[in-house]
Amino acid sequence: MTATDIAIVGVGKIARDQHIPSITKNDAFRLAATVSRHSEVDGVENFATIEELLEQRPDIPAVALCMPPQNRFDAAWTAIKAGRHVLLEKPPGATIAEVQALVEAARDKGVALFATWHSRYAAAVPSAKAWLAERKVESARITWKEDVRRWHPGQEWIWQPGGLGVFDPGINALSILTEILPQPVRVTSAELEFPEGRDAPIGAQLQFAGASGETVSADFDWRQTGPQTWDIDVLTNDGTLKLSSGGAEMTVDQKVVIQEADSEYDGIYARFATVVAERAIDVDLAPLVHVADAFMLGRRIAVDAFDM
Ligand code: NAP
Repeated sequence: MTATDIAIVGVGKIARDQHIPSITKNDAFRLAATVSRHSEVDGVENFATIEELLEQRPDIPAVALCMPPQNRFDAAWTAIKAGRHVLLEKPPGATIAEVQALVEAARDKGVALFATWHSRYAAAVPSAKAWLAERKVESARITWKEDVRRWHPGQEWIWQPGGLGVFDPGINALSILTEILPQPVRVTSAELEFPEGRDAPIGAQLQFAGASGETVSADFDWRQTGPQTWDIDVLTNDGTLKLSSGGAEMTVDQKVVIQEADSEYDGIYARFATVVAERAIDVDLAPLVHVADAFMLGRRIAVDAFDM
């Protein structure tokens, strides 16, 4: 198999922690270049802007966009127009319309577009989906509580408009929820906690309802120190399912069914190889729609200032 050359744009935390190791492990890809203003990867050619990359390396057919969502559209648009396959980190954009525009542009150009949701590649998610498909969901509870200082050290963009605040991790839970529930739900109310001086929430509580009377609640919090909580509990007519550790573990009626180490990004690059080979468009906006709806419906609550 000939490896597809790929360039990473935005060499920050997620590029170093996950994308580079998963690309290195995957024979289908070869890291051929980076675009970074502040960083370099040993032995890999670096460009200051994506325009320079696209102009000087027409031989690189694919790019992985790992910068914050507020800057992703322009880069994706330019890459698609230049005929490159594009992988988008989550969330796929800062607005819904901009991602829809990318889908149209990719379709016109005949290139692959993959809006990744890494949590959907957590080990237990496919099994949870299969288990729920044969049952009636009565209610679900999401508890997603983590320490923003630990996972986003020094990152200012997450507090700025379009950075999503606590929805940056919360959307991971919503990407699992929208994957595993047999029927869709819709946001019915939300409370968003904005620290003084910040443009994005540090906490959020959401309520959802489905067409068959099922209810879902979500509690997102960025102030949790100590052990971190990434749990989804689903009560059905035939037992209770729990996904924990962000989807890596699954129990049914408290018995462990799956417990595996994280390999989400290996799954993402395995999928991207297929998406590229098929020139496919793999874009599901459902998690982003829930976040947008929470911002539309949400009651805003002022809370204490928060220093990083
Ligand atoms: P980060 O550490 O701040 O890195 C983002 C990189 O994007 C920066 O290092 C910078 O790279 C580049 N960039 C381009 N324009 C920028 C701008 N205007 N402001 C800041 N950076 C800019 O962020 P990250 O944690 O890697 O997150 C990036 C994306 O990955 C987000 O969408 C996030 O939701 C997602 N993600 C993050 C995590 C996590 O644990 N942190 C997990 C999963 C997904 P250069 O200096 O190289 O130009």
